Formats: sequence, C-alpha cells, structure tokens
Amino acid sequence: MTRPHARAVLDYPFTAPATDGSVVEIAPGILWARMPMPMALDHINVYLLRGIEGWMLIDTGLNTDATRERWEHIAATHLDGLPIVRLVCTHMHYDHAGLASWLCERFDIPLYMTHGEYFMMRTLSEPVPDPLPPAQAEFYLRAGMPPERVERMWKAMRKDPFMPPQPQSFHRLRGGDEIALGGRVWRVVIGEGHSPEHACLYCEQDEILIAGDQLLPRISSNVLVTGIEPEANPLQLWLESLTRLEQLAPGTLVLPSHERVFRGLHARTQELREHHQHQFDLLRAHLTGQDSCTAFEAMLCLFPRLRGPVDDMLALGESIAHLSWLRYDGMLRRVLDEDGVYRFQLADPAFALTLTPSDATKSPEQAETSDAKH
Ligand SMILES: [Zn+2]
Repeated sequence: MTRPHARAVLDYPFTAPATDGSVVEIAPGILWARMPMPMALDHINVYLLRGIEGWMLIDTGLNTDATRERWEHIAATHLDGLPIVRLVCTHMHYDHAGLASWLCERFDIPLYMTHGEYFMMRTLSEPVPDPLPPAQAEFYLRAGMPPERVERMWKAMRKDPFMPPQPQSFHRLRGGDEIALGGRVWRVVIGEGHSPEHACLYCEQDEILIAGDQLLPRISSNVLVTGIEPEANPLQLWLESLTRLEQLAPGTLVLPSHERVFRGLHARTQELREHHQHQFDLLRAHLTGQDSCTAFEAMLCLFPRLRGPVDDMLALGESIAHLSWLRYDGMLRRVLDEDGVYRFQLADPAFALTLTPSDATKSPEQAETSDAKH
C-alpha cells in the first residue's frame, strides 16, 4: 500500500525571484525569472541561457500585458547588452508558449519546438465548434458526464481569455538533439503524457535539467485523456518518461516551470509514481463491493472538491487516464451499456482492494495549473 503523506525531502538551494522582472543567477550564464499568472498557480518560471552571440529564452509566460512588460524590463536590464537570439518552448501549453508569436516578432528571433508540440498548438488554436462535433459529444456521453455539465465546461473553454496569435513557422527539435551554447551542451530529452512531445534540456557536464512541466517539485502535472484521442494511454507514456528522467545523474539540479529550483530528482520521480499508484488504489477500492462505475463517477471519487468547469475538464481527463491505464494493464474491464455509456468494473475479484481510512486520505498532490486550460 502506498502512503503518499510523507513528502520526499527535496533541497531548494535558491530563493525564487519575484514576478516583477527580477532574475536570480543559478549558474554562470543561467538566469531564472518568473512571470505572473492571474490564477491559483500564480506564476511560471522562465529561464535565460547566455551564449556568445546572445541569450536563448526557455518558455514565455501567458499572453498578457503584464508578461510583455516583464520581458521588456528583462531585455533592457539583465542581459549584459547582448541580444535575445532564440526562443525554445518546452511544450505548447499557453503558459509556456502563449507569447511565442509576440517574442519572435518583438526580438526578431526563431522559435524552437518539437514537431508534436508545434502542431498540437496550431490545432488547439482553432475555435471550438458550437455545438460540439459528434466525436467530441460522444466522448462525454460515454464518460457518463451529465449534458448540462458538459455544456457548462465548453462554454467556459470558448471564453478563454489567453488565446494567443500563433507563430507561423518553427525550427524542429528532436529527442537527442544537442544545442551548444555558452560552453555548455544541452541535450533534448523528450517527455510524453502531459503533452505530446515535451522537450526537456539536459546539460550532462553541469548536471542541470531544464524540466518544463515534466518534473515539478510539489504538484503533479496533468495527464489527460481527451476526446481528440479517446483510446490513448497517456499515463503509460508519462511513467515511461519518468524512467527516462531517472537515467540522469542523482545530483541533477532541476529547473522546473513552476515552484522552485530543486535537487532530489529521484526522490521526486518516486513520489510521483506513488501518487499515481495511490489514484489507482483509490479506483480499485471504489470498484470493490460495487458492480461498476462510469468515468464521471470515478472523477467524483478521485476529485471530490472541484471548483468549476475548467476543473471538471482536467479532472475528467485525469480520471479517464487512470481508468485507461488500469484497463490496458488488465485490472479493469470496460463495457458499453445500452445508454451508450462506458462502465468500468474489476476484471477479476482478485483485484479487489479495501483501504483503511488513513490510506484512503486524499493524496497531497494538486493538479498543475488547475485554473488553466491545457
Ligand atoms: Zn503544461
């Protein structure tokens, strides 16, 4: 049985910068800045790497005037008179890439992203049709989500205030690519599950990982199944990506996109594994002693305190991701009932599980950017 209550002991060697455009130097030629976000998760970390010709930016912040002001301030104040020469976006989520178009035009720089991230970003920038296309509507019907709750969710999505203009071209990054900059070599390490082809950058010589959302110190990144790929198994991809990160040096300094720079990579990947194991256990316990449940009912079990339509979208996708993993692992069976709703049940009574009240206590992890659309 997993006990997710004891937190991994991580080391935080630096005080975080304020979200006012100030920077913290975490190694020669590596700056850490923070952009404000008007939501519960109130910041995103961005990093600047100095090369001979100028600076490479990692991630952008949201498409807001406040973020543009911070970038103008940083460019005027902290860059030793050198220009900004390129932008790397770890992945397409709008806190990471929302200002890509503006930054590329403002500083006349190229954008570097993976193929999967760039094209998913372009696809998701299309307005959501109203009413939902049949395949999308069917996804929520099959999940057993009440139609008025689906409607409320998509109404909120259509009013998204941060939808940015899209950059019209990019340079492709691939897993294993190496970027030489300022005496360091950064290797692209791909993560999957949170987004399709998330780029982390690893400097082996200095044991530094720019981790994006692939490894955060206290919050677990969203891993969702959506109507775009309803039969996906993103948690399998996510757990395999953790294995890839576990190949890196134990003393690696991790530069995450949210919260603080830390050491303790292996303790943290282990804790994330335990978090997902705990969610699996909760679902098995929920299905023990009852015939079956829908994805919507599983969501209410895993996420009893949802705060609104955006939480609904993230929580439903995350619940289906856990159900799918258990199903592909052979522990759950899925049947389509006569109402067109999927019902999940234990594939064998041997998979039944009873939790003590303390085991069943909710894991302390919280969803990443629970106010943001991903
Ligand atoms: Zn993200």
